[in-house]
Amino acid sequence: MQRGPAQIAAKTGLPAGFERALRDWYRRNHRPMPWRSTRDPYRIWLSEVMLQQTQVITATPYYHRFLERFPTLPELARARPEAVLAAWAGLGYYRRARHLHEAARVVVREHSGVVPRDPEQFAQLPGVGRYTVGAVMSIAFGLSIPVLDGNVARVLSRIGALHISVREPAGARTLWALATEWMPKRDPSEWNQALMELGAMVCTPRAPRCGECPVRAQCAAFALGSPEDFPPVAVRAATRRVRRAIVVIEKGGALLMTRLSGELLDGLWEPPGIELAARQPVQLALARELERLGVHARIEPSRQTVRHRITNRDIEVELWRGTLELPVARRAVLRFVDPQAPRVAITALAKRVAASVAPRLR
Ligand code: SF4
Repeated sequence: MQRGPAQIAAKTGLPAGFERALRDWYRRNHRPMPWRSTRDPYRIWLSEVMLQQTQVITATPYYHRFLERFPTLPELARARPEAVLAAWAGLGYYRRARHLHEAARVVVREHSGVVPRDPEQFAQLPGVGRYTVGAVMSIAFGLSIPVLDGNVARVLSRIGALHISVREPAGARTLWALATEWMPKRDPSEWNQALMELGAMVCTPRAPRCGECPVRAQCAAFALGSPEDFPPVAVRAATRRVRRAIVVIEKGGALLMTRLSGELLDGLWEPPGIELAARQPVQLALARELERLGVHARIEPSRQTVRHRITNRDIEVELWRGTLELPVARRAVLRFVDPQAPRVAITALAKRVAASVAPRLR
């Protein structure tokens, strides 16, 4: 029987034998990861932030490089924002880096540079949500506080055959309540990591490996014979088609780029460009944008386009070639950037544009 939030009001109770089976499996099977061999809250915090929208295999080299650059929290706090973004460049979701940097500064200013082990104080820091509180407090300090990410939510909904989604407020409330109720006092770090690891390695979204699962005897979805029915599939936001035009101005292998502002890509660099409205005369709009930036250049279409996807946007980008008519005046938001060795963080689209014009740059 599938159960929604209303039917789960009563306590569900941790199934007998679940904790032991899960912990035994985790001790034998967990993947070694660099942040699993430390209790340093800064390193654990960094890893949790990086892993929020990024897979382990992608995040690992970034984790090492970031720590080489900023080995301690005070060193991160002292860094310039551009240096932090440059160390994050390529990982995406740059708001994570900005928040971590701001939070490091608050920790230095208000907590003498020591990550607070009080969950309420830690939760006040920029970018720290309920998941991060649970992860850092349990793994670094051994506090009995649950986590609920996509992996844990899936495991819980399948174990209880709960037809609820963590993406909906009522579902999230129910799953947090369950995660809290099941949270053991003993070794919360191992418990939280084991739940996450089970979701990542065995109880996967599609084709869960129930035959190898240590807790299949306690799993209601397995007993029903339909694990993939849990949790309900979220309706994806429709992909929006977007048209952009970008001007490529080259100098000695570098491309002219401008510093972006706005919610999503604030502080990243990209060649000057505009989003196109329907039937908008492209050349005129690009010329106006260059004028706004103080760039005097002749532009012509290159007949080259690149496709780029970012979250739910499918972007088609027309590339225009620009030839400078006057030298570019030095400005804080404008500079030539070598895309092979950028000293500032450039967008994924900037990298794609650079790759598509690379033969001309050689
Ligand atoms: Fe997930 Fe299958 Fe294990 Fe249930 S038995 S927790 S559905 S892997």
